[in-house]
Amino acid sequence: MENNSELPKFDNHLWIKILIGMAIGIGVGLTLSPHGLAIVEPEISSLLASWIKLPGIFFLGIIQMVVIPLILCSIVLGITQSGELTFLKKIGIRVVLYFVCTTIVAVTIGMTLANIINPGNFIDQELVQNFQVEQTTAAEGSGQQTFDSLTIPDRISNMIPTNIAGAVVEKNLLQIVISAMVFGVALLSIPAASAKPVLNLCESGQAVSMKIVGWAMTIAPYAVFGLLCDITIKLGFGAIAGMGMYMATVIIGLICMMVAYGVIATVIGKQNPITFFKAIKETQLLAFSTSSSAATMPFTLSCAETRLGVSPKVSRFVVPLGATINMDGTALYQVVAAIFLIQIFGDASGIELTTVGMVMLIMTTVGASIGTPATPGVGIVVLATILTSIGLDPAAVGFILGVDRILDMCRTSVNVTGDLTASVVMNRFMKDV
Ligand code: ASP
Repeated sequence: MENNSELPKFDNHLWIKILIGMAIGIGVGLTLSPHGLAIVEPEISSLLASWIKLPGIFFLGIIQMVVIPLILCSIVLGITQSGELTFLKKIGIRVVLYFVCTTIVAVTIGMTLANIINPGNFIDQELVQNFQVEQTTAAEGSGQQTFDSLTIPDRISNMIPTNIAGAVVEKNLLQIVISAMVFGVALLSIPAASAKPVLNLCESGQAVSMKIVGWAMTIAPYAVFGLLCDITIKLGFGAIAGMGMYMATVIIGLICMMVAYGVIATVIGKQNPITFFKAIKETQLLAFSTSSSAATMPFTLSCAETRLGVSPKVSRFVVPLGATINMDGTALYQVVAAIFLIQIFGDASGIELTTVGMVMLIMTTVGASIGTPATPGVGIVVLATILTSIGLDPAAVGFILGVDRILDMCRTSVNVTGDLTASVVMNRFMKDV
């Protein structure tokens, strides 16, 4: 049953092709962008952007088409391949504890850096005042709340799927993961003969999904070119102005987290760190380019099994679950962003971060990162909820929105690296079970 032959293999030069796609995409984007070299009129550049991004849209469309059946089939097969509920109980408890611990590490790194660097002190006051004026005018004009205001308990209770079809339609991956787990456990608990037809269906479903992912892989470099060119045309250099220190704080934090993964993979996962990072580079580049752990999930799974030698019964449980709930990069970013915004707007709102406040912020962020969907740009929407819970106006996220996409690309690479690190660690932990 432990057969990973249906997984698409990475072509050895894929990462070079992806890197070239990225470089050309950014170069062309900066040349065309109204906020860059602006060699064409803004209307023409936005028209070109919508054509250039087409390969990226095809790529994401194909992956999104198969990601839900793939998650369902992988988790059901992962659970049933383990053969017994004890294995499942052990891996379930260990992996969730592991995810919580690494998220706490990420949040602590973010909090420490934000307090040492104090990115809020480097912000031009004019930028803040302009933003506040814009906010007031917008609020007077519309009276609408832009960011959804689900509380953290609401988000947690939303994890339980009451309608599977609804979860699929809404692409609520966490609910899909939970449904698949319940099904997997139930299949393991009924007579093998009754479970067989569903398992056969899942095996075919997984093989078909992976075949389609293999096709998508061939256009990955063009997709990356299109996606990055489109983003660069829209952002140019303009968005970065004035936000350098905030961005640097998040990026330094994410680099520290990568180093932490290297240490964890070496010490606990017994991997050679150089071989580990070499094996996962394509997956990281795809995560960077798509800004979506979910869209990268099929490649993460393939990488875990074909490159890192993780047993399918471990990877098919850990990777889909990790892609959905393990978001260390997002948690780190959220805590830096929250502290940065408190440094800027805290005085006006009468908010000061005390030690108790910091602990609350850590707990809220760890909980919230679990409920953050694995798609582009959602980290900032959940950040709005975190801000509400610490008493800051959620509209403050508008201040950092301009640079969010760039940080999203970086934090998604970290999220995916976290899932791969978890796979090698769990592979080792579960060897004896
Ligand atoms: N884009 C991130 C991911 O898919 C989530 C986020 O931080 O917005 O992992």
